[in-house]
Amino acid sequence: MKKLLWVVALVFAAQSAWAWGQTGHRVIGELAQRHLSKKAAKEVKKILGDEDLAGASNWFDFIKSDSKYDHTHCWHYATIPDGKTYAEVEKDSCGDIIEAIARFKKTLASETATLEEKKFALRGLVHMMGDVHQPLHVGNGTDRGANDVKVEWFWRKSNLHRVWDSGIIDKQQLSYTEYANKLDHYTKAEKKQWQNDNIDDWVKENISYRPAIYNIGNGKLSYRYIYEHLDTLEGQLRKGGMRLAATLNTIFG
Ligand SMILES: [Zn+2]
Repeated sequence: MKKLLWVVALVFAAQSAWAWGQTGHRVIGELAQRHLSKKAAKEVKKILGDEDLAGASNWFDFIKSDSKYDHTHCWHYATIPDGKTYAEVEKDSCGDIIEAIARFKKTLASETATLEEKKFALRGLVHMMGDVHQPLHVGNGTDRGANDVKVEWFWRKSNLHRVWDSGIIDKQQLSYTEYANKLDHYTKAEKKQWQNDNIDDWVKENISYRPAIYNIGNGKLSYRYIYEHLDTLEGQLRKGGMRLAATLNTIFG
């Protein structure tokens, strides 16, 4: 029993190290689901069955507990040091979040891929479109996406990556549907902009947030840090939802 508890604890720790928390992923999935075209919603249902995009959004974190999927761990992030662009950095042979998103899109658009391959790709796309909107999933190459930046979060030991994955979101104490209701208000200009920009823009956006995100003073973070960053974080959830919907609407026509 003790051993099992350790395994559970380790799996949980591994999950929290490299992903929006469950709620963040589900919010993005739910927002996207609400903005699918009729045709895209039908195709999604064909592929996922009774699972919706929110339900599919965390699967790629859950499989981290199965060593058969070890090769997928590096698909959740990319490393782009300050002052560099994605094109300039040396690519990891096992892949990264940017090439993974492109690969999943290709599979979903393919006429020869099997239903099983499409399900894997759709779960992957929903998850990685979420992760790519958590700014610290584009790491600076020095601190494992700020996992090594130790902080206190409401007087408990944590790290900066985890604060952005789940710390700020969980403090809002909203379910994912309540959160989606709160965020599901897009102006025409936002819709147009976010449906049209591309992954290079998303990555640049993440990098532009870095100085503010890393401005942590003595590292004792609580209400003030939320106050300073909630708009940015919720903006990322809203963009993630709209861009995922736009991506699927384009693929499925
Ligand atoms: Zn992830």
